[in-house]
Parts: sequence; structure tokens; C-alpha cells
Amino acid sequence: MADNPNPAPIKKARAGQPLIVGAGPTGLAAALNLAQAGHAVRIIDRNPAPTSESRAIVITHRTLDMLRDLGVSDKFVSMGHIVRGLILTVNGQNKAQIDFEFIPHKLKGLLVVPQNFTERILSDALREMGYVVERRTELTRAEMDTQGGNLQLKTGDAYEATHVSWLIGADGEQSFVRQLLDTEMKGSAEEHHWSVVDIDLGPKIDSKNMEICLAAKMPALIRIPLGKGKHRVISNAPEVTEMIPEHWRPGGIHWQSDVVVHHQQAERRIVGRAVIIGDAAHQMSPLAGRNLSLGIEDAISLTNIINDVSRISPSMITPKVEEQLNHLFRAWERERLGRSRYAMWISNRVDALVTERTGWELFKLAQMLRFIGLLPSVQRVALALLADLSPPEVEKPAPKAQ
Ligand SMILES: Cc1cc2nc3c(=O)[nH]c(=O)nc-3n(C[C@H](O)[C@H](O)[C@H](O)COP(=O)(O)OP(=O)(O)OC[C@H]3O[C@@H](n4cnc5c(N)ncnc54)[C@H](O)[C@@H]3O)c2cc1C
Repeated sequence: MADNPNPAPIKKARAGQPLIVGAGPTGLAAALNLAQAGHAVRIIDRNPAPTSESRAIVITHRTLDMLRDLGVSDKFVSMGHIVRGLILTVNGQNKAQIDFEFIPHKLKGLLVVPQNFTERILSDALREMGYVVERRTELTRAEMDTQGGNLQLKTGDAYEATHVSWLIGADGEQSFVRQLLDTEMKGSAEEHHWSVVDIDLGPKIDSKNMEICLAAKMPALIRIPLGKGKHRVISNAPEVTEMIPEHWRPGGIHWQSDVVVHHQQAERRIVGRAVIIGDAAHQMSPLAGRNLSLGIEDAISLTNIINDVSRISPSMITPKVEEQLNHLFRAWERERLGRSRYAMWISNRVDALVTERTGWELFKLAQMLRFIGLLPSVQRVALALLADLSPPEVEKPAPKAQ
């Protein structure tokens, strides 16, 4: 992305404003939405630099719609790659094909954007508003009350005490803010292991469609094109590169990682003015591509409410109004719990569908996908679930004349 020749001057955030811990995709989306509503937002991260790794790549359609409100969705589309369909192969044979043309959305495909690009788009937009991430800065202590909290931050050897109106914990899997909420991660104790690589494949490999390759009692292999000859390949084998067939002509490796996850979420997301969002609140298998999108949705939906509430003059906040505002945040919490429960269910289903299967189960899966692929109306409903959109409204027949 070209540097803006006239960047906005950096604004100094004041005490008594919201503070976001963690400048991953979740924290950046929260900071941007608050800044656009006029908050003198502060965002800190203990890491000296943003990630250079491609990590999570899927931007769901629902998330893309929310990013449109932040004015950055076009950048996501222009920097990403659009996957047009899904092919299922069983024992090397093409058994079913799903066309993403039937996704009930303007974007007829699945948008994939490497996480380092996602973070760059969001931090550039934040920089345009005059805010930058304060790096090498860590939250080390917090005492919260109903009106905000007193925090201790550490930058290098220097400690700082500050008061904030909101503490937003977008501080990832090992969240410090989650401890303040005194909530446990609940879910499945089972570990899901995935070996992931971003790799160049030969020019004959389909760059339009993603592919799920299954064989009875064998690890699964999933290939998602990323554009320009690069592909994300995922397997539940210990080493994904050993699973890549010769005829795919594997070339240079751009990034490789082992991902070990539990499917779990925090039952409480908000206590007073401390909130957790993103990986701090939920973690699930990367296979259904929900982690990052869900975090961005948490961030935008939460900060939309904070923005609305901040417009109310303090003199109007009577105990009755305070109680109604609490209801509003509780409703947000319930909605987010429901969303991540649903995303965990989808991730569990996808995990179960592609991991070790008998020949009979594979036959049933291929038949099911073939059936979906044959009927556009069924494809629309199935793809709405995949895209995390509400199933399309079925047009009701006009009432018969009496
Ligand atoms: C190595 C790796 C590979 C991954 N691969 C995949 C993949 O292939 N597919 C997939 O879907 N997902 C993958 N993920 C998960 C995905 O990256 C996360 O779901 C996503 O980053 C969540 O975003 P987030 O902003 O909620 O949290 P994070 O991106 O984890 O950001 C949290 C930030 O908070 C900062 N922080 C934490 N504590 C403090 C503190 N006390 N003070 C200040 N800063 C703090 C951290 O430095 C970090 O930058 C991977 C994750 C990792 C680590």
C-alpha cells in the first residue's frame, strides 16, 4: 500500500478515554471504530512490531459488511483473493463441486486476505485518523470500577498510571484482561492439531477453487488458493508438506505453522467497564475460518454501543438510565455468546467432516455435497451458512383468491 504523502498528525490520547490492549485484527478494528466516532482512543501492544505472518485468512461476508461501515471493505477486496468454488475429491477423484456463485451476497466468492494485510489495512486507516499503536507497551495491572478503571502500563523500564473510561481486552489467547473478569474458558478439552503452510504450487493448479481432498483413514488435505500461484495448504497430518502430492509441483514456502487449538469460549465477556473480545474470548479450529472474522465482529458491535452510549450527556445518566445501559451491554454479551457458540459448532462440524473417515462415511459425504451442488436453492441455504449470512428469505407464495 502506498504511503499517504500527507499523513494526519499523531493525536495524543487523553486519560479518561477507552484503552484497547492488543493490536491484532480485533483491537485495531475496535480502535478504528472508536476513533471514527470521535474518541481519543488509545491502543497498546507489547510486541515491538505487527505480525508479518499470514495466519488467519478468511473474511466472512458478514464481517466484510461490517468493515464497509468503517470504510475499508474495498481495500480488503482489492488486497485479497476471491475463491470461486469448492471441489471435493475422494481418493483422487472429483466427487462434488459447489459453486460460490450462489452465495446470497454481492461478493460471489470467499474472500481470503492474509492476516498481516488485514492488520496493515486497519492500522493505516487508524493512522489516517491520527492514531498509532503504542508498541512495546504492556498492561501490567488494572483496578476496575463501574465508571472505568485505573491501569498500570509498562513501556521498557518506565511505568505509567492512567485512568480509562473503558478497558477493552483484545489481548489474545492468554488474555490478561480475561483474568479481571474472573471467567473461565469453557468448551471441549480435546486438542485440534493442524499443520499449515503457504506455498507456491505449479501453474496448472486451479487458482479459482478451493479443494478438500479426502481418502478413507487418511489425514485430510485442504488447499485454498491465495492468488499469484500461492496456496494455503492445511492438514491434520503432523507435517503438511509431506502430504502435498508431487503433481501439485510444490515450490517456495512463504510461511508455515502448527496450530493447536481447543474449541472454547469465556462465558462472561463484560464486567463493569472491562470487556474481552476476539481470541481473548473464544478460540476454535482455523478450519472453518471463523476466528479472525468473529473477533472483528465482536470489536465493531461492542464499539458501536460504546459510541452510542458516549453521546448521552453525563447529566442525563440517572440510576434508571444506568440500569438500561447495563441491559444493553448484557444483550450484546448474549448475542456474542450465541455467535461464538454457533461458530464453534460449525468449526466442530467441519473438523469432524474432514478428519479420519471410513469409506462408507466418505461415500455419504460425497453424496450429500453432490446433492447440494445439484440444487441451486439448497446451495443458497448451505452457502449462506458458510458465509455466515442469514439464510435467504424464502419468497412466500401469494395467497390464493377465495
Ligand atoms: C502462529 C499462529 C498461527 C495461526 N494460524 C492461523 C491459521 O492458519 N488460521 C486461522 O484461522 N487462525 C490462525 N491463528 C489464529 C489467529 O491468528 C487469531 O485468531 C487472530 O490473530 C485473533 O486476533 P486477535 O486480535 O483477537 O488476537 P491476537 O492477534 O492474538 O492479538 C493479541 C495482541 O495482544 C497483545 N497483548 C497480549 N497481552 C498483552 C498485554 N498484557 N499488554 C499489551 N499487549 C498485549 C499481543 O502482543 C498481540 O499482538 C494463528 C495464530 C498464531 C499465533
